Amino acid sequence: MSTIKRILVTGGAGFLGSHICDRMVNAGHDVICLDNFFTSQKNNIAHLLEKPNFELIRHDITHPMWLEVDEIYNMACPASPVHYQYNPIKTMKVSVMGAINVLGMAKRCRAKVLQASTSEVYGDPTPEHHPQTEDYRGNVNPIGVRACYDEGKRAAETLFFDYHRSNGVNIRVVRIFNTYGPRMHPFDGRVVSNFIVQAIQNQDITIYGDGSQTRSFCYVDDLVNAIIAHMNNSDDFVGPVNIGNPGEFTIKQLAEKVIELTGSTSKIEYLPLPKDDPLQRKPDISLAKQKMDWEPKVPLEQGLIHTIDYFKSLNLAQFRKPTDHTAHKSSLASKV
Ligand code: NAD
Ligand code: UDP
Repeated sequence: MSTIKRILVTGGAGFLGSHICDRMVNAGHDVICLDNFFTSQKNNIAHLLEKPNFELIRHDITHPMWLEVDEIYNMACPASPVHYQYNPIKTMKVSVMGAINVLGMAKRCRAKVLQASTSEVYGDPTPEHHPQTEDYRGNVNPIGVRACYDEGKRAAETLFFDYHRSNGVNIRVVRIFNTYGPRMHPFDGRVVSNFIVQAIQNQDITIYGDGSQTRSFCYVDDLVNAIIAHMNNSDDFVGPVNIGNPGEFTIKQLAEKVIELTGSTSKIEYLPLPKDDPLQRKPDISLAKQKMDWEPKVPLEQGLIHTIDYFKSLNLAQFRKPTDHTAHKSSLASKV
């Protein structure tokens, strides 16, 4: 029997999706990358376009797709707070209607389908639920500005488990914690990209709040290893499973580390903390260790050095801000 699989990666031109496409193309699989290019540009997958086992489709997953595939990595969704809050109704549609569309297709094709869920399903964890384990039900503000993403991803998880229980769809669910690395959009507003882009231009580093809030940062290669391991894991364990690096840093520590590694003359500027910004976040990865024999290998400093090299290599003028509507006329990013 052929081991070559037909693999669909939704959001395949994005930061994480493009790394999954690389891995699948290099393994010899037939890869379909589907993206509407809301938060990405073709540069992330340009090197794959000439490969005979790579195909690119411009499509919005809120509309049904009709493809024949064996596996689906459902990565499509704006992931940075700036991007997902730009058009919150659309964000909710991407999570919910997108999940229904990929799950319907998985059901028809009998494909295995993996959902990129998020640590945001835990909302702003209470101190007694720190670090977060998968059985923590979360503390999400359902009417807050982050709810379009948090609740959208929670609803998507519900759909995945209902299709699994009711229709026997073979699912996998990963809850991804903050991940960074080459191919992040330089203007996505996320903390690692913001700080590095500011530092290499010797601009002020913008800390929101007093910088005492914490995050755990996972390097992209570690993350992609875990996602692929879970897709190939035994059908007895579908998740959800936390994936992230348990090293916990304050945002101020991150700013200082970026300044040190870039040798920048940037100063720190303190700006107001965005609403509902979680105070603490750190994954408990015991389940991933136990079920997938996985743990992250790349320390923050090493990952930041790779990421700094990547951002230094870019011509920033070639990037448009996905939220700059005048620069981006695509109806796919327009208001619903
Ligand atoms: P990204 O913004 O770089 O990639 C998302 C991709 O999805 C982009 O290429 C975008 O154009 C595409 N997309 C958006 N809406 C779409 C639509 N309606 N139809 C088709 N394509 C669409 O973000 P990322 O960091 O690569 O995140 C990928 C996935 O992982 C997302 O689902 C995100 O929620 C999840 N995730 C990421 C992180 C992280 O730290 N990177 C953390 C938690 C969860
Ligand atoms: N943050 C910051 N300065 C920035 C961008 C982000 O201080 O320029 C903070 C943000 O308020 C949050 C943390 O960094 O506390 C991580 O933000 P990010 O948008 O990367 O992801 P989140 O984990 O909040 O989804």
